[in-house]
Amino acid sequence: MLSLQDIDCRDLPDFDQHERVIACRDPDTGLDALIALHDTTRGPALGGVRMHAYSDRGAAVTDVLRLAQGMSYKAALADLPLGGGKAVIIGAPAAPPAGAKSSTLLHAFGRAVHALNGAYLAGQDSGITVNDLVEIGTSTPHTVGTAARQAADGRSVSGDPSPSTARGVLVAIQSALDHRQGSSSLAGVRVAIQGLGAVGAKLAEALLDAGAVLTVADVRAAHLAPFQERTNVTIVDGATIHRSDVDVFAPCALGGVLNAKTIRQIKARVVAGAANNQLATAADADRLLQRGILYAPDYVANAGGLIQLYHVRAGKDGTAINASVDGIAATLRRIFIESDAESVSTARVADAHARTLLKQQHRSHSRVA
Ligand code: NAD
Repeated sequence: MLSLQDIDCRDLPDFDQHERVIACRDPDTGLDALIALHDTTRGPALGGVRMHAYSDRGAAVTDVLRLAQGMSYKAALADLPLGGGKAVIIGAPAAPPAGAKSSTLLHAFGRAVHALNGAYLAGQDSGITVNDLVEIGTSTPHTVGTAARQAADGRSVSGDPSPSTARGVLVAIQSALDHRQGSSSLAGVRVAIQGLGAVGAKLAEALLDAGAVLTVADVRAAHLAPFQERTNVTIVDGATIHRSDVDVFAPCALGGVLNAKTIRQIKARVVAGAANNQLATAADADRLLQRGILYAPDYVANAGGLIQLYHVRAGKDGTAINASVDGIAATLRRIFIESDAESVSTARVADAHARTLLKQQHRSHSRVA
């Protein structure tokens, strides 16, 4: 039988006044999951469901706490009426017999999401496919990004957030170039993209269309294939792409790629990409600042997907979604200007803005209540 139990995380280093952290267990299906609601004063907590074979329970708790807080910050800076939350399912994401991911387990997780009455909206994250989300959605309507929806103009808008994430990263690169060199033109600009997956491949095509010259890397041959023998594309190794002699480095694969070692080796003057948690530690943002590398904070640059998920759910059309995604440029401009003025890293400026916005929301919420 499914059980939901709030767990006390107040003593953990990654606890940031999270509203709730709920352990969801169902011995019948093997479900062992955590749902964290960081802050729901702006609206329901929208965040992906991740499935991963964590080395221990503590690692899963740390992950869900950090990811949920990150979603609150992302939604606040994207000016969306959403809160931040995240879920992790503990277990190998392959289907049985090799892994734990059965339909019955996903249905049980859906019942756990449903029990939160819409406070948490479940999206897709690593280890969970759109089809898995559809399975989860058989137990609850509180899922996002499962299917195309009818927009206000009658056309259908895809549930896949990656096109908007790629658009947002493109806008972020342009905003950073504009700030750094007074022009957002991409003609002849050299960009290194690490990872040509759902986002990276779309970003690469958009950059080539705009006249950029690309250096790309991916660990999967199938993802490199469309870029082989293309004009203005050089393929390099994924482990060393950050060292490329380029103007912009766009991490679109893994977290932690900006660390004490790689930052010393980066030649690009701008870092802007889609990957979550690009900074290995908070101090790495200071290292980038010291080296004069302009960093577009990841959760600001990659907010396009979240913006799309929200607007599709609200029935907005593609034009409205694109306009909202393009707003990432102005948000970054404010962050860059403040970072210069205060000599504080862009990441610290972005975090401070997010915290201020959440505090303001709390104050107006308590006035209304
Ligand atoms: P994806 O899995 O489709 O693509 C990731 C790509 O990176 C794959 O092609 C993979 O082979 C490649 N890769 C893995 N390790 C690599 C390495 N060492 N060197 C080079 N390439 C490597 O994922 P995605 O949806 O394109 O997302 C990319 C990143 O952006 C992820 O960190 C994701 O969390 C983040 N993100 C994605 C979205 C979205 O809308 N999909 C939104 C926000 C953030």
